[in-house]
Amino acid sequence: MKTIGILGGMSAASTQIYYRKMCEITRQRLGGLHSPELLIRSLDFAKIEKLQAGGQWDEAGYILNAEAKALERGGADFIVLATNTMHKLAGQMMRAVGIPLLHIADATADRIKKAGLHSPGLMATAFTMEQDFYIDRLKAAALQPTVPDAADRAEVHRIIYDELCQDMITTASRTIYESIAQRLVGKGVDCVILGCTEVGMLLNQSNVPVPVFDTTLIHCESAIDMALAQ
Ligand code: GLU
Repeated sequence: MKTIGILGGMSAASTQIYYRKMCEITRQRLGGLHSPELLIRSLDFAKIEKLQAGGQWDEAGYILNAEAKALERGGADFIVLATNTMHKLAGQMMRAVGIPLLHIADATADRIKKAGLHSPGLMATAFTMEQDFYIDRLKAAALQPTVPDAADRAEVHRIIYDELCQDMITTASRTIYESIAQRLVGKGVDCVILGCTEVGMLLNQSNVPVPVFDTTLIHCESAIDMALAQ
């Protein structure tokens, strides 16, 4: 079994889901007392969020690069960056790192295509919905992503940072997210990407009327596939 290096804490709320999910999937696949071999480096998200909000991406990239190198030195065979947004810095993060990155958008695009779908709605942070790094990656995989309107994007983003990243789950926000997903369906999407690792705290297949692709769960399953591959 290969050793997974999780770079998380972005936020800590979703990194906990990663660890639990990876343990669950490994137990399902191998049975009994099996659990994944892994390292978690969990950052202080307050520090990272400040850099994001201030547009100090280079500094954030420098931190991620140092952490990726530390995971490699610690014995990780590959890296799972447990946030969609920070994949903006994937190139900088992996500079002079000798182990591979399991890219969250590639794993998700792969799943969508295998399901025969091609027009995903995307619910994520404003960075992920409005900048090119993620949308272009999906387009390069022959998908045609659609994002919510500006007011809905602002709401999705606000709820991620003000609530979900702080482990707060409310019925009011779940209802808002359900309506936004519904409006994406009204725009003609054939599935919805939960493109932020906390969005699955509010949405799942039971409250969205089209197929749901939860990046956190897909990332965990792909990581275990990779760890168990011969
Ligand atoms: N976890 C989130 C994501 O998947 C948002 C927090 C962050 O900016 O890293 O994008």
